[in-house]
Amino acid sequence: MKLSAPENPSMNRLAVHTITTKPWPLAMAADRFAAAGVGGISIWIEAIAGMSNSEVSNIVQASGLKVPALVRGGFFCDPDAQERMRRIDNNRRLIELAGEISAEMLVLVVGATPGEPLAIQRGWVRDAIESLLDEASAAKVRLAIEPLHPMYSGDKSCINRLTQARIMCEAIQHPQVGVAVDVYHVWWDEALESEVQKLGELNALFAFHLCDWRVPTRDMLNDRALMGDGCIDIRGIRKLVEQNGFSGWNEVEIFSEEHWARDQQAFLNDIVDRYQQC
Ligand code: ZN
Repeated sequence: MKLSAPENPSMNRLAVHTITTKPWPLAMAADRFAAAGVGGISIWIEAIAGMSNSEVSNIVQASGLKVPALVRGGFFCDPDAQERMRRIDNNRRLIELAGEISAEMLVLVVGATPGEPLAIQRGWVRDAIESLLDEASAAKVRLAIEPLHPMYSGDKSCINRLTQARIMCEAIQHPQVGVAVDVYHVWWDEALESEVQKLGELNALFAFHLCDWRVPTRDMLNDRALMGDGCIDIRGIRKLVEQNGFSGWNEVEIFSEEHWARDQQAFLNDIVDRYQQC
């Protein structure tokens, strides 16, 4: 197995999402990430289903990895007000969980539901986030709003551009609320540069997610490419966020039927190589 030099500073900022190596259980992912010199593991709730918080913490602590994020909360949008309350309660539990496993932030995929104007849904999202601020502050867990590509605006996210996420941050005005910039979702946006600049000024650049956009894309969800295998100017976007004050984790988040079918250690080695090139 290829080991990367631990003194390489860029490796200290590399984190991998558990969904990226979905076939590996948490303990194996943590072991292998640490052995490859990766510094952080962002934990998807699906990866810890059925595990106690202390089991998760023990695995993470034994590996020496940090936890940039618990992924993912949100999904606030439903026409039924009681259901929206239930979803807010669910996010309260996720914030608590994030605090207990020392995750720095909870990523929010804010949700969307067909048949309601997106502007109304964004109002629900604002109400929901505002009602979680006390819990987030108490748990010292940041809330990172992740805009999703407009192809998901029907049922996954009513926040599709950095502009909408930034406006939400400005409306809420809370130091625990910021944005996750995922290159997959925002690379096409002509406002990318100006919005990253504004988010930097707001101290709201919380997370940076890496993968690539395959051409042509064969599946709307599970065909993300390894960095360098698509059309995104990853190096340019990375430079942009860093120039605007971002010094946090570079989180590799790849959902890919193709890569999940591969030997996961070989995939991880490729991730490390490509990361060092981008
Ligand atoms: Zn992401």
